[in-house]
Amino acid sequence: MSKSQHIGKAVVEENLITGFLNQPRIELHCMLLTRALTKQTPQLATKSISRANCFGSSIKMLPPLSDTFPDLIRSKFSSAVDAGSLTFTPSTEKDVPAGDLIFRVRVAPSLAQKPVPTREHDEAPKAKFNPFLNPEPDLFLCDLGDRYSLILNKFSIVPYHFLCITKKFEPQRAPLSEEDLSATWECLQANVKSGSRLLAFYNCGELSGASQEHKHIQFIPVPHDLKLLPDIALSYGIPVSKDAIGQFPTSHPGVAFAHFVLPVPKNPSTDDLVMRFSSLLARTLTTLREQGQRTISFNFAMTKDWMFLAPRGQESYGGVSVNATGMVGLLLAKSEEQLDFIKNTGPLEVTARVGLPRITEDEQQHDY
Ligand code: AMP
Repeated sequence: MSKSQHIGKAVVEENLITGFLNQPRIELHCMLLTRALTKQTPQLATKSISRANCFGSSIKMLPPLSDTFPDLIRSKFSSAVDAGSLTFTPSTEKDVPAGDLIFRVRVAPSLAQKPVPTREHDEAPKAKFNPFLNPEPDLFLCDLGDRYSLILNKFSIVPYHFLCITKKFEPQRAPLSEEDLSATWECLQANVKSGSRLLAFYNCGELSGASQEHKHIQFIPVPHDLKLLPDIALSYGIPVSKDAIGQFPTSHPGVAFAHFVLPVPKNPSTDDLVMRFSSLLARTLTTLREQGQRTISFNFAMTKDWMFLAPRGQESYGGVSVNATGMVGLLLAKSEEQLDFIKNTGPLEVTARVGLPRITEDEQQHDY
């Protein structure tokens, strides 16, 4: 990519971050974020501080999902498969241990048919079809408030994989807004499969593993007894802070890639969610800045118990594409060969190669 293309991309991403900072609740926490951004984009930081309004208006709370949502998703999933509108390919699973972590690797040849993203810098970019502007009726589940629709994933590897999409186009390169976090929390309440909890994830930026540019937060059921990386990271304890959150983000001590985890309290308010997201994003932006990344790419994952963010430096390693699910312990392989590659290389090495190295304790400034 040429220098001017890099600068153009940086301007777009700065605008997205400015939009994020200007949301009422996020402005409360903008000092954290502007501190993380200051050295990278001093003008942006100054603008954001001057626009900060700590008495911003409240957002409209989203109506809760209907109690019948789990039945709806199960019946719609079956009918969409029967109608041929949803491609479901059963996969095999292999657990690959890595220290006290287990990476569950799904081998799914259907991944090879996943749409390949059109990059901005392609020599002759073609107009890209946006499947989320007019979702297919067979995949449509319901609306969530005025701003979101819930739809089934057309190419499912995990049953009941669904997406929360914005009704109007919003860029996937923008961080999650306060309304997005509220919508995510609403969806996480649904008990779509017994014996499972929902994992929400958001692949943000061009190196994050996303294939669609229209904002979409995804949800898959994960077995209750499967401990993901953030579950294990939290089991090491959480440093206490004196701020409104009461805890500093933590990381798994045996994992080489930068990642940040915070527990989510029971029945969180939107403020609780925004504070945690802002705190994790501030560290993510600091890591991207300190390591000279020119593009803002990161993975977000969340359950009812925790929130996780990890900055990204590469989309794939050894042909294995990794998105947010991979970074928390659920890798996907397109073939048996890719499974062998993951086993031989080690899942912690694969994820470290697509993430960014951790900033050491000495380099980290624990002032936010
Ligand atoms: P990502 O690749 O992380 O950007 O996620 C986009 C998801 O949208 C993928 O899991 C795709 O399988 C899914 N998808 C692609 N096309 C459609 C469609 N027409 N309707 C619903 N989901 C789709």
